[in-house]
Amino acid sequence: MDTQKMGFNTICTHLGEIKDEQFKGAVSPIYMSTSYAFEDVDIKRYPRYFNTPNQEALSKKIAKLEKGESALIFGSGMAAISTTLFAFLQKGDHIVLQRTLYGGTANLVNEEFEKHGIEFSYVDTQTSEGFKEKIKPNTKVIYIETPSNPLLTITDIKAVADLAKENNIITMIDNTFASPVNQNPIELGIDIVLHSATKYLGGHSDILAGAVISSEKNMDQIFQVAKNFGGSLSDFTVWMLERSIKTLGIRVKQQNKNALKLAKWLEKHQDISAVYYPGLKSHPDYEIAKKQMKGYGGMLSFELKEGLNASKFQKELRLIKSSMSLAGVESTILSPTLTSHALLTEEERALQGISDGLLRLSVGIEEDEDLTQDIQQAIEKVKILELEH
Ligand SMILES: *Cc1c(COP(=O)(O)O)cnc(C)c1O
Repeated sequence: MDTQKMGFNTICTHLGEIKDEQFKGAVSPIYMSTSYAFEDVDIKRYPRYFNTPNQEALSKKIAKLEKGESALIFGSGMAAISTTLFAFLQKGDHIVLQRTLYGGTANLVNEEFEKHGIEFSYVDTQTSEGFKEKIKPNTKVIYIETPSNPLLTITDIKAVADLAKENNIITMIDNTFASPVNQNPIELGIDIVLHSATKYLGGHSDILAGAVISSEKNMDQIFQVAKNFGGSLSDFTVWMLERSIKTLGIRVKQQNKNALKLAKWLEKHQDISAVYYPGLKSHPDYEIAKKQMKGYGGMLSFELKEGLNASKFQKELRLIKSSMSLAGVESTILSPTLTSHALLTEEERALQGISDGLLRLSVGIEEDEDLTQDIQQAIEKVKILELEH
C-alpha cells in the first residue's frame, strides 16, 4: 500500500514492518546481530550507528507518525534530548527554554550547560512575547514542552515556531505528554520533535526509550553526535517498542476519552477544589489547546478540598496505583511535591503553582466508571479518617 495514504492506526500497525521472507511469520523478525558483513563501503550496520534492520524499520514508523522525514530511536528520552541539544548548541551559544520542563531536562540544562559554555534563559510567561523577550543575538534554540507537567499548561506551538523562524532559531519540542496521536508539532512549524518513548509510545510501563523526529538534514546533524554519545536502544527493546506502537492510536484515544470524562466529573465534585486539564473550558489555555491538539491527552491534575489529606487519599486508592512514571495502560497517581518536583524549593514550586495537595493522575484505559468509583471510595475513607481524629 502507498504509505503516503496510510491512516494513523494503519501506520501504527504496519508501516516499516520487516517481512519475514524465510518463514512468513506475521510480525517483524528480531535481528540481534551486532556485526554485519560489509555490503559495500557506505553501509556499515552496527547498533550504535542506529542502522540495524529493526532500528531502521521502527524509525520509519515513528517518523511517519510525527509527519517528519526521518527519526532516530534512543535508549531513553533523556538520551534523545541530551544528544539533540548538544547537536545544535556549542560553546558561546544561547538557548531559551520554558520554565515548566520535565525535571530531567531542567537538571541537564542546570547541571551540564555551564560546563560546556552554553548560556540559557528560562521563560516564565509561556506566551510568544515571553519567549521573544529572552532572545539574544547568540540564541540558537528555543525549547518548549506542551502540555507541561504537572499543571498541563499549554504553549502556543505555532506562535513560538513563527517567532523562531523570523529570528533564524531552531525549535525543539518535548511532545511526550501529547503523543503523536494528539499533536503533530512539525505541521505547526516546529523543527525537531522529542519523545520519551518510555511513556505513550511504549505505553505499558515496561520499556525505557526515546525518539527524535525531524527533517533529513537535521537528523543527519543529530546522528553525527548520536554515534559519539552512543545512546542507541537494544534491538530487542526496539522490537518491543514496535509491538507497543501498534496499539498507540487505540490506547491514547481511550485515554483521551477517559481523562475528559474524569476531568468533568472531578470538576463537579464537591470535595475537589481544582482540576487542571486542557480539555476543560475552565482551563486558562483551553482555546490554544483546542487549536493545536486533536485530543487533550490522558494526563490531568487535581487538588482535594482543604482538610482532605492527599497522601492518605492516595493510600486509600485500590485500583489507581501510586507510581512515578506515567502513560501506561493502567491509571497511576503521584504527588508532584513528594516525587517529580521534590528537588525544587518550596518557593520554586509555589512559583509554578504546585501546591502540596496537588495530585497528578495518568489516566489509563480502564472503564471510566471504575476509576471514578475508586476515587469516590478513597475520598469517603479519608473523610472517615479525618472524623476519627
Ligand atoms: C519521562 C520524560 C522524559 C525523560 O524520558 P526518559 O525516558 O525517562 O529518559 C522527558 N520528557 C518528559 C515530558 C517525560 O515525561
